[in-house]
Amino acid sequence: MEISDATVLAKYPAAYIDHDNKVFWKGLLQHRLLINRCEDCGHWHYPYHALCPRCWSDQVAATEVSGRGTVYSRVLFHQGPAVEGINYSKSYPGVSVELAEQPGLKIQTTIVNCRNEDIYIGMPVELTWVERQGVPVPAFQPAPGALPTPEARR
Ligand SMILES: [Zn+2]
Repeated sequence: MEISDATVLAKYPAAYIDHDNKVFWKGLLQHRLLINRCEDCGHWHYPYHALCPRCWSDQVAATEVSGRGTVYSRVLFHQGPAVEGINYSKSYPGVSVELAEQPGLKIQTTIVNCRNEDIYIGMPVELTWVERQGVPVPAFQPAPGALPTPEARR
């Protein structure tokens, strides 16, 4: 089903949505993580640009990624804007995930289904979805085998 521009603007009122990136936000409403890929040279880029930053082609297309990646960096937020579903008293993790599609292709997101102390740089993660303010947003969780077993923690 086609999602209208008006719908995506209404669903993500706090987001900066423009002609170049609206397809990204429409993808979120369908639980699809779409990243721009150049159809001429194959280079992925995020955030969205109208031209490929490597070869300057305008043949860029929003392309669904595998949802696999690794934790590139992590911070813990102890305060921030009030958002339903975010509890700063427990420290809210903000991570940069390097997507498996290309070295250096990173997205700012969060980690769920994982204790903050178990998040490590290089941790394999996979895409999942959380609801924030009534709309889906991408998040990541540990990939199978990424966390040590309870026995290994002792
Ligand atoms: Zn290119």
